Amino acid sequence: MAEEKLGFFARLKAGLAKTRQHLSSDFDRTFLGHDRVDDDFYDELEEVLIMDDIGIHATDEIMENLRRKVKEKHIRIPSEVRELLVENIREQMHVDEHAYDFEKGPSVVLVVGVNGVGKTTSIGKLAAQFKAIGKLASVYRSEGKKVLIAAADTFRAAATEQLEEWAKRAGVDMISGTEGGDPGSVIYDAVSAAKARRTDILLCDTAGRLHNKKNLMEELAKIDRIITREYPGCIRENLVVLDAATGQNALAQAREFSGVTNLTGIILTKMDGTAKGGIAIAVQSELKIPVKFIGIGEQVEDLQRFDPDAFIDALFTQEPKDEESAEN
Ligand code: GDP
Repeated sequence: MAEEKLGFFARLKAGLAKTRQHLSSDFDRTFLGHDRVDDDFYDELEEVLIMDDIGIHATDEIMENLRRKVKEKHIRIPSEVRELLVENIREQMHVDEHAYDFEKGPSVVLVVGVNGVGKTTSIGKLAAQFKAIGKLASVYRSEGKKVLIAAADTFRAAATEQLEEWAKRAGVDMISGTEGGDPGSVIYDAVSAAKARRTDILLCDTAGRLHNKKNLMEELAKIDRIITREYPGCIRENLVVLDAATGQNALAQAREFSGVTNLTGIILTKMDGTAKGGIAIAVQSELKIPVKFIGIGEQVEDLQRFDPDAFIDALFTQEPKDEESAEN
């Protein structure tokens, strides 16, 4: 288990290297370039946070907190503010202890997001991890959950085929409909099957695009109503998938989807190799929805629960063996 965790952390760190390099050089310039904690220093720090995709809202909160703590602790030297800042961000990224209650089931997990963000892939990875038996069980804290997938993106035949591949690989059942069919009826059938089979977790894929945005949002709202009506006793989890590399666009997408369903969490994909890792802080702070999973690649094990401490360490900790300093 420790080995697996270490592997993921090392890859997370490698994936966030670009973001870390940006932040680190911007921080060095700001924290070393000022000899006093004054308005000039605060202005520059604020600009750095916004430019590094931490977002205006999160930056405002961080700065307000920081100013208060600097005053309380009578800090006058900019370099001493650095640690406080990182701790502040860590606090912002806190994930509630009940965030993963849905994994115990019985639950219906509705997965929404625009095309290409990684919905299908993430559902496949989650299905495999929840289903995990034997050795994988301890790695994924799962004891062979009974998982069912609903392929409700009937708009694209390729989406169902792709999901089918994942379902086969994970060894879980899938309910699908006909191409161009009613996604609502796929969900209806899947919910009935989940109840009859005593499924622990029903994972529902949805379309990322229909003829137009209004259509899409109405369809999702309908799906949401069907689940509520047909399965009143289940735990509801509504996850929006966002591609970290799209930066601030991801925020706009999440806002759009929060209009049709009560979003309970975020899956942030493609954190590998993006320079926009700061978006994790922005979405969490601005939308008040926790990042619950992050994706750092295309393999089954490349999606994991979001661990704020690991994330903060991967983003802000400079190790001597890191990057160019390895030569020294
Ligand atoms: P969907 O349209 O939202 O269902 O998106 P897909 O699941 O089809 O994913 C789109 C592409 O992104 C595929 O090539 C995936 O392999 C890739 N992808 C998904 N998640 C990640 C990730 O965390 N990292 C990387 N590098 N690629 C990913």
